[in-house]
Amino acid sequence: YSHLLAKELIPLSILTPSRPPARKPRPTAPFVPELVYFEPDALQYPKGERILNWVREQGIPYRMTTSHNRITNLPGETESEQYKIAKRTLVVGLRKTLEFDQSKPSADYAIPIATGCMGHCHYCYLQTTLGAKPYIRVYVNTDDVIAAAKRYIEQGAPKITTFEAACTSDPVGLEHITGSLAELITFMADEPLGRLRFVTKFPHVDSLLGLKHNGHTRIRFSINADYVIRNFEPATSRFEERLEAAGKVARAGYPLGFIIAPIIWHDGWEEGYGELLSRLALAMPPGTTGKGLTFELIQHRFTKTAKSVIEKRYPKTKLEMDIEKRKKKWGRWGQNKYVYPDEQQNALREFLTERIFEHFPEAGIDYFT
Ligand code: SF4
Repeated sequence: YSHLLAKELIPLSILTPSRPPARKPRPTAPFVPELVYFEPDALQYPKGERILNWVREQGIPYRMTTSHNRITNLPGETESEQYKIAKRTLVVGLRKTLEFDQSKPSADYAIPIATGCMGHCHYCYLQTTLGAKPYIRVYVNTDDVIAAAKRYIEQGAPKITTFEAACTSDPVGLEHITGSLAELITFMADEPLGRLRFVTKFPHVDSLLGLKHNGHTRIRFSINADYVIRNFEPATSRFEERLEAAGKVARAGYPLGFIIAPIIWHDGWEEGYGELLSRLALAMPPGTTGKGLTFELIQHRFTKTAKSVIEKRYPKTKLEMDIEKRKKKWGRWGQNKYVYPDEQQNALREFLTERIFEHFPEAGIDYFT
């Protein structure tokens, strides 16, 4: 019987049940808020006006507010409903505080262009740092922010000063609305002592590809084991889309990086992270993963406050936050955080380091924390 098969007397299609062709998953659509608030002063700025026109064109309802820090009348019956609505609410205002926070270990300073994010990553630290204000604020006075950055660069001379634009948001996911990253990138291109960096889980980088950057902006993509992306990163993009976008920015000459964060200890973590790095190596176009490629590795951590907020907002989460299984570490903001015990940390670090150098021998690992 088998030789009949081999001689193709029985067409294979009769023997194998026909499956409908796999449907290509839909690309992640750029974010469109459901409700927008404007501070009146924001409309005095060209960017504020541009955003207002866009909001009207999209037919999105909008309201005026006195301050982006005081949005009190958000719709929604319950707290959890309000939270979901807040994550789809955009507030357009002015950045008043022009003193930048530190942003170790990724950069010297956090450069503020947006606060809040439409992603629903269960582990995200914005859950606690933004507290009762999870809505998304974008700032129209980018010129003031850039002038402040210039002062920091001058103060830091002759050393190079680095700025992280993704400390409090995922700015790539908002770029089609604000254009703020484009302004920062072109400003930094002419700053011999200034460097910009940001990280994203969104693939919408096309508007950045043709900009003058002089290699002064490093774009990193947040990647993770399939288990982590599937269970903990709703409302972001698929792994393949992030890789495709990474290929594009690398071909546009931007320094490229990947952040594996949070690294989560789970059943089958070795296979999961091993597969992540081999898929990454296979998918990246030739010439994009040589010298200059960087990796940043951040293990999962949480505070007691984060744990209670996360459990309330995502009650079915599979995120393991058992204090008994963790090691206490003193946090910079006076709150203890819980990381993996040394043995687990070392196993994760060693495994990932080995796999990274196996697939990307010329890449650098900036840090494991
Ligand atoms: Fe937080 Fe980044 Fe996820 Fe947005 S994409 S929710 S900033 S972890």
